[in-house]
Amino acid sequence: MTWGGGMGGGFGGAPGGFGRPAAPGLPFAGIPSELQSGVDRLLASEPEHAAPDVVFNQNGSEADLKRLTLWRLLTKYPWMLALAGALVVVISVAAQTGPKLTEIAINDGMSPGHEHFAVVVVMAAAYLVFIVITALAQRYQVQVTGRLAAWVMNDLRVKAFAHLQRLSLGFFTEEKAGVVMSRMTSDIENLQQLLQDGLSQLAIQALTMVVITVILFTTDVRLAAITVVLIVPALVVASLWFKRASERGYDQVRDGIANVLADLSESLHGVRIVTAHNRQRHNVIHHRNVVGDYRDANNYTAHVNAVYGPGTQLLGVLGQAVLLAIGGEMVLHHTLSIGALVAFFLYLNRFFQPIQLLVQQYNTYQQGQASVNKLRNLIDTEPEVTEALDAIELPPIEGEIVFDHLSFGYDPGRLVIEDVELRVAPGETVAFVGPTGAGKSTLAKLVTRFYDPTAGRVLIDGHDLRGVTMRSLRSQLGVVPQEPFLFAGTIGDNLAFAKPDASDDEIYEAVKKVGLGDVVDRMPAGLDTVVHERGQTLSSGERQLIALARAFLAQPRVLVLDEATSNLDLQSETKIEAALDALLENRTAILIAHRLSTAMRADHIAVVDHGRIIEVGSHAALVASGGRYAEMYATWVRHSDLAEHAPAHDGD
Ligand code: ATP
Repeated sequence: MTWGGGMGGGFGGAPGGFGRPAAPGLPFAGIPSELQSGVDRLLASEPEHAAPDVVFNQNGSEADLKRLTLWRLLTKYPWMLALAGALVVVISVAAQTGPKLTEIAINDGMSPGHEHFAVVVVMAAAYLVFIVITALAQRYQVQVTGRLAAWVMNDLRVKAFAHLQRLSLGFFTEEKAGVVMSRMTSDIENLQQLLQDGLSQLAIQALTMVVITVILFTTDVRLAAITVVLIVPALVVASLWFKRASERGYDQVRDGIANVLADLSESLHGVRIVTAHNRQRHNVIHHRNVVGDYRDANNYTAHVNAVYGPGTQLLGVLGQAVLLAIGGEMVLHHTLSIGALVAFFLYLNRFFQPIQLLVQQYNTYQQGQASVNKLRNLIDTEPEVTEALDAIELPPIEGEIVFDHLSFGYDPGRLVIEDVELRVAPGETVAFVGPTGAGKSTLAKLVTRFYDPTAGRVLIDGHDLRGVTMRSLRSQLGVVPQEPFLFAGTIGDNLAFAKPDASDDEIYEAVKKVGLGDVVDRMPAGLDTVVHERGQTLSSGERQLIALARAFLAQPRVLVLDEATSNLDLQSETKIEAALDALLENRTAILIAHRLSTAMRADHIAVVDHGRIIEVGSHAALVASGGRYAEMYATWVRHSDLAEHAPAHDGD
């Protein structure tokens, strides 16, 4: 049972700004001193970038609700798009003037009876001018589309990330982390290529085909009509097949890479368990299968390309052979000039070139489109828990929690909480105890509104949680998960995550209060000691104490605390118990107690079983009533190492 990360003690953490070493707020690990001067120099020469325009709220703004399409992404920059379009037109037209100039040079400058060297020279000069125009237009087009791509990518990354922040816990439980990562990295990268180069090339080639078709018809209508009848139907059929096959192929490729990354990330995260259970061999086999599926998807797209590319080339050559015979016959009968036939063939060659390039670009387009579809699915995923449009700010609370006929199922058909009734008075601590899978953590998740009830209500100070803003709710709630999450950064940063504006003194006060003072003092740089991602460099007891200090710093009115099940040594356990005492004082708290020794400290104990609360009362009352808790307690007394001290608690 893990509650996702980074939520210990409030939710208000803002990321630290660059150039502000080790400022409160995460994730940011500070700049190593030897690099600081280089960073300062770089920052001094950096242009000012406006803060990105990020829309973030829990119910989604109008802008956010629009469907993600390539067109919508691009039209946000209409001027750049128009400029790129104009340059594409210039390139497509200017590059096609050559054969026409050649035709004029042959017919009016070199043919018998029409020998005019001046015409040849003028045509050659014009050819040169158009080549220079084409080259210049290409240079600016690459620059403009490069910029356009950079902005669109930037928007997309921010939009996708902001959306991930909105999504509910359920999404992250269902979706593999690796798949989400691949959407955010490989899918977005994939679009980069399409935006930077692919789309403009696609437009240039398509436009070139149109320009050439027009020129072919103006050069000779009969030959052009024969070309269209001979080649175009076969080309259309082949292209329709290619479109369908490559769409399917690239969809499989996107899923394939997402699965490879998901498998990789799972193996990396679970490396300890994998090693401990000798599952390396099994993992390699599994990964080989996943990679194999990815390879098959790539092979399929390669096959589709291999059929379509050379196939269209063959069509072109066949068409040319037939046209050579027909055109030659027309020249012999003086119904067509040699210059026109040469120009026709030059254009015909150019007519097939864009088709080949279109195929390549269409691949890029397909890949990009597959990525857009995947990203659209991600961005269209609505959070399960949303904020009501008329949600009010939760005023400062006393801390009364009420479960009113509360029922909940992760899958609505299977309730894991059934008709629970409970009232926790302000300042009281209630411990949930019960067998594993009984629904204790689920009840806690309903208090923090990670999920909404299937039926009934959760009320804090009389306010239904669904009617208040998430921000105002969570800023007054503290959560200490069973496995506290620490970000890569200093211990101070990790503590200040719950309260970004906390002063060093406040942080140190919280550290002392939970009994972490001597541990921090012993660390090489005190609060500035850097911990690695997920706090791997600390012991589990230290991580728990940091999570408690984090919650203490936020000073929430209501605290939801999932007791760690890991076995701690007696000294750490005593420390944590003392820290808990400090933390729970004057606060409403829900404590998921895995140890009865912790449960006993609570004002009330609620026994949860099969999604229902079957007993509530103080430790003494429950023991005296001889019910389920009394049974659990008796078993615990018999088995506990502390059995000899146990009678002291009896009748507390
Ligand atoms: P433990 O003491 O072992 O932590 P618990 O009493 O906290 O157990 P819960 O985690 O609340 O139990 O789980 C209650 C039931 O809900 C269990 O049957 C569990 O399998 C199921 N469950 C928990 N999380 C999910 C989820 N994300 N999706 C579907 N079912 C879930």
